[in-house]
Amino acid sequence: MFLAVTEEAKELTINSSRKGLHGTSRPATRVTLSFPEEPCASWVIADSVGNNGHLMNVIVCVKQIPDPAAPGALDAGTNTLKRDGKLVIDDSDMYGVEMALQLVDAAGGGEVNLVSMAPNSETSGMRTALAMGAAKGVLVSDPALQGSDALTTAKILAAAVQKLGGADLIIAATESSDGYTGTVPEQMAEVLGLPSVTFAKKVAVDSGTLKVDRQTESGYDEVTCPMPAVISVTAGVVEPRYPSFKGIMAAKNKPIDEVKASDLGVTPVGWEGAGQKISGVAQAEARQAGEIIEDDGEAFGKIVGFLENLKVI
Ligand SMILES: Cc1cc2nc3c(=O)[nH]c(=O)nc-3n(C[C@H](O)[C@H](O)[C@H](O)COP(=O)(O)OP(=O)(O)OC[C@H]3O[C@@H](n4cnc5c(N)ncnc54)[C@H](O)[C@@H]3O)c2cc1C
Repeated sequence: MFLAVTEEAKELTINSSRKGLHGTSRPATRVTLSFPEEPCASWVIADSVGNNGHLMNVIVCVKQIPDPAAPGALDAGTNTLKRDGKLVIDDSDMYGVEMALQLVDAAGGGEVNLVSMAPNSETSGMRTALAMGAAKGVLVSDPALQGSDALTTAKILAAAVQKLGGADLIIAATESSDGYTGTVPEQMAEVLGLPSVTFAKKVAVDSGTLKVDRQTESGYDEVTCPMPAVISVTAGVVEPRYPSFKGIMAAKNKPIDEVKASDLGVTPVGWEGAGQKISGVAQAEARQAGEIIEDDGEAFGKIVGFLENLKVI
């Protein structure tokens, strides 16, 4: 932005409302500038926000799951996890929330919002994310959604994203800790018609372009992607903050808009219409006991041999 100022001007306050990266409305900002003693014909005014002058709105998918510390149980009739007790935020999504907060900080402004689909009007997990610093959320809770498979979940979350007015970036975890098909983020991207980058282990935004280090089996790929986009982040992408006491208190009053599938224009397909079927469940194999190597002075050789066998070295 260029401004011409007169010789008399000493200070200038600009009130401006903004458009986000993709046309979404952003809060108004006020920038106050003090001019140097020596006036000049014009100043180039650097915007008060990063990301080349754009604010950043991010929506994070927060799955609320039964507390992993408590023994889980399956519904014998449907083979799905029982979710009738208190739910907590899936640890996998703490990374997405933290990443979103850091990206908004780096941009110099914007908002982190949440979407979640969970039974029984459960918001405990969302409140944790709000306590970390997210602003508001949309919860889709509807008995009609029982039996929803991953695709229906993706359609619901995509519609919730649209209800929030969209965002510059939508973040999910690569897979949840309880159901983990690891397919919801990519299906959401398809439903929303957005590009998708998976397995993000490092994320930055530069001049409105997403830059991602994408984890691969042999290292990582450097991926650039236009925004808006949907990304899935790996655990360890950032270190999630602990909610502060002030954050926890503030989260109690932050808005969560609870809606039903019909409010979003999505028709639940239930068990009958699900594209996936749970054909059976079996007890996971008990873990084999590890090998204990006593150090007789030559233990290092045995360990090297063991690792070579695994082709780790
Ligand atoms: C036939 C069938 C019926 C099912 N019926 C039920 C049922 O009645 N009740 C039930 O609870 N589950 C049910 N499930 C499981 C449910 O469909 C999946 O848990 C859900 O689709 C999410 O898939 P996922 O955990 O595999 O997600 P993944 O693809 O592993 O998740 C990746 C990421 O997407 C985001 N995400 C995923 N789900 C949610 C969510 N709900 N809210 C916010 N973010 C999310 C998170 O960031 C998550 O880490 C059913 C599954 C099948 C196959």
